[in-house]
Amino acid sequence: MLPAIFVSHGSPMLAIEDAEARDFLKTLPSLLPEKPKAILMVSAHWERLRPTVNAPPAHETIHDFGGFPEALYKLSYPAPPSADLAKRAVELLTAGGLPADIDQRRGLDHGAWAPLMLAWPDADIPVIQLSVQTRLGPEHHYRLGQLLAPLRSEGVLIIGSGNFTHDLASFFSSGGRIDAPEQDWVHVFAEWMSSALKDRRIGDLLNYRQLAPEAAHNHPTEEHLLPLYVALGAGADRVNRLHTSTTYGILRMDAFAFG
Ligand code: ZN
Repeated sequence: MLPAIFVSHGSPMLAIEDAEARDFLKTLPSLLPEKPKAILMVSAHWERLRPTVNAPPAHETIHDFGGFPEALYKLSYPAPPSADLAKRAVELLTAGGLPADIDQRRGLDHGAWAPLMLAWPDADIPVIQLSVQTRLGPEHHYRLGQLLAPLRSEGVLIIGSGNFTHDLASFFSSGGRIDAPEQDWVHVFAEWMSSALKDRRIGDLLNYRQLAPEAAHNHPTEEHLLPLYVALGAGADRVNRLHTSTTYGILRMDAFAFG
């Protein structure tokens, strides 16, 4: 059975700039027990008040960032959508008491296509996205994962795509270079989270904002951490760190497998 995965997608430059996390993402398919029949991406870059999945006739590649090199805007990821998977996800969520919507227009944002392009460059696996509900916090997203967990045994790879740490306001004060040294406040938070994940302290993780050092500093808003809780909810019985590295001194690029 497929695990659920959390990946850190970093800066949009991840798609074209050398980094350890980029090399790691290319190896992701080789770490899975089987090739996924379809992928459900929970991206930090799609926020909706209610859980929403997308099922357009074809996926537009959304370049949802500004001020980056022209080459990034030329990238496209033409993976097919899957109306069937969108319908199945909505059924599972609604049956579990979290009514969900289908958006028939929206394509793939860079939280989805940037890591997928590295892992599955052929774009031959159908993909859908699920939105986050930032105001509803970790417990809601953990529940989303629990309700979607049956998809894992149906050949669907659930991927949460966010960032293990994500205080972009510190980007320039931390050096603005991809190889800038990791900030102490990033390190203490990431190590607390890693250790809580390793020991599967679910209660502590759900209350990370009260318990983890520098939590609000690393996540001034929670949308980049919440995809981790969906993946955790889908496979909390086993946690395995797949990757750790740091870019720009502030973006921890950790990835985990759950289940
Ligand atoms: Zn992002």
